[in-house]
Amino acid sequence: MNINLNKAHFPVTVLGPGRRIGIWLQGCRIGCNGCLSRDTWDATVNQTLPVARLLDWCERVSIQNAGLPDAAPPDGITISGGEPFDQPDALAALLDGLHAWRNRLKSDLDILCYSGYPYTRLQSQHGSILGRLDAVIPEPFIDSSPTRQLWRGSDNQTLQLLTERARTKYAPYVNATGSAQPGKQIQAMLDGEKVWYIGIPQRGDMSTLEQRCKELGVHFHHPSWRP
Ligand code: SF4
Repeated sequence: MNINLNKAHFPVTVLGPGRRIGIWLQGCRIGCNGCLSRDTWDATVNQTLPVARLLDWCERVSIQNAGLPDAAPPDGITISGGEPFDQPDALAALLDGLHAWRNRLKSDLDILCYSGYPYTRLQSQHGSILGRLDAVIPEPFIDSSPTRQLWRGSDNQTLQLLTERARTKYAPYVNATGSAQPGKQIQAMLDGEKVWYIGIPQRGDMSTLEQRCKELGVHFHHPSWRP
């Protein structure tokens, strides 16, 4: 089984509790107005690889990281996109592999998945995938409806806790806003000449960042938040 992947990274600290493996899938048919990740929309951008290779990478970064003096293995895995549920078979295979790995590790890492589809649709069409997740943040991004809730981009998006593991682990964060918690943060990663921004900024943050960088002589080319 192949999966179309946009990118994967560890550690991600801004999309769920703790230090997490982040997996972004390529392709999204939803097209929310104001989406910051337009580079993930095109499903014909073929970056497919076997699910088994992605699982190997997850195990490798975990083992490598566990060997570092002040490092710890992942607290969880966050799957985002793109739209993960636009690749249901690959997503199910990935989740099966992650479950097998978690069982082998006897680890408590949780699996959180984002989706732009309504929760009711996920329940009616993808119940078996929801059954393999600990938490899901569903619903499309609505640019005109900002929120201060952690890990969410707009006020309509909910944090659905699907397992006892998630209910325990996420309890301190449910309904927490920026004032009670670390707040909305973004990570920046360098990849050759590309910079990735990971996380969900406040409205206007990316324009401010772009303007500040421009003043310093750094110009953004093809930012993923513009058509
Ligand atoms: S916000 Fe998510 S669901 Fe909406 S268009 Fe962007 S990638 Fe797709």
